[in-house]
Formats: sequence, C-alpha cells, structure tokens
Amino acid sequence: MRGLLIGRFQPFHKGHIYVIKEICKEVDEIIIGIGSAQLSHSIENPFTAGERIMMISKSLFENGIEKNYYIIPIPDVNNNSLWVSHLKSLTPPFSKVYSGNPLVKRLFLEEGIEVLTPPLYNREMYSGTEIRRRMLEGEPWEDSVPKAVVDVIEEIDGVQRIRDLLKSDKI
Ligand code: ATP
Ligand code: MG
Repeated sequence: MRGLLIGRFQPFHKGHIYVIKEICKEVDEIIIGIGSAQLSHSIENPFTAGERIMMISKSLFENGIEKNYYIIPIPDVNNNSLWVSHLKSLTPPFSKVYSGNPLVKRLFLEEGIEVLTPPLYNREMYSGTEIRRRMLEGEPWEDSVPKAVVDVIEEIDGVQRIRDLLKSDKI
C-alpha cells in the first residue's frame, strides 16, 4: 500500500522526519510530493525543488529510512479544481493521503479521497514559518532541522539568500 505526504518543505524539518516515520508504520511505500515546486527565491518559498529534494533524500538517509520512497516535485497548476488530477498525473498511484493543510484536505475530499491529518510534533520549533523567521532574524534554527538540512543550507548559502530577499534596491 502506497501513501502520499504533500508539503512545501521550505525547509524540510524534524517535524517532517517524525511524521514520515509514523506514516512508514502504516504504508509499504511513501510518496513525498513537493508542492509549489516551481517557486523559489522568495521569503515564503526560499528553496528550489532541487534543493528541497537534496534536503529530503539526505535527511532520510541520515535517519536510516530505507523504505521505498519517491520524491516527486509538483508545480502549481493555478487551478484548485484541477489540482488533484494534476498531482495524480505526476505521482505513482496511492491509496492514502497525509496532510494538515485545510485546502489540500478539501480538494482531496471533493475527489472522494480521505486525507489523514497526523498530529503535529513540537510545532513551536518544527514549523517552516518559524524556521524561516529565525533565519531572517539571526536566531538559532539549526536544532529544528536534520543535520543534512543544515549542510545543504550552508552549501547553497541559504540564510544569506533569505536575508538578501528582504533588501530593497533603493540604496
Ligand atoms: P509552513 O509553515 O511553511 O507551512 P510547515 O512546517 O507547515 O511549513 P509544510 O511543508 O507545510 O511545513 O508541511 C507539510 C505537512 O507536514 C503538513 O501539512 C503537516 O501534515 C506535516 N507537518 C509539518 N510540521 C509538522 C510537525 N511539526 N509535526 C508533524 N507533522 C508536521
Ligand atoms: Mg504548512
């Protein structure tokens, strides 16, 4: 049985590792769909799909997750009513979906697919929004992500990228 976890993973963090370990108890194979795959270099979506793939595959390796998994970038289709069929056209077949995002849940529900919402783990720290805020404001964020993600963000100069995105060209 194959399950799908969909997220933007901006960046991939320890909450994602936790939820993937939980999902792996229930499925034989896991599909990790990278949403808004075409977006990068913005405050909300700083990292490219390729960078996010590196973060995920290296983190899974580091955590000994050897179950069959597929990492599939899903670009936005900019038409919510087509989004589920668009996604299905890009992924291996699946029979379970996991997401906490209310829009994702609603769109699958309307296609007759139930979405399971796993409990959030240490959400104060393990949250993409909180991690991006900490990067911008120079607060520690490294403990919230797997070591492999720290390494990828360092390799691509990710923190400076986010800070540069806030600068204006006026001066
Ligand atoms: P953002 O704040 O940018 O939305 P996020 O931390 O919510 O980032 P997503 O990529 O939106 O990260 O997460 C995808 C899915 O991963 C969520 O819908 C949720 O099901 C799961 N998830 C996210 N954070 C946690 C967490 N701390 N514990 C367990 N599951 C999580
Ligand atoms: Mg989210």
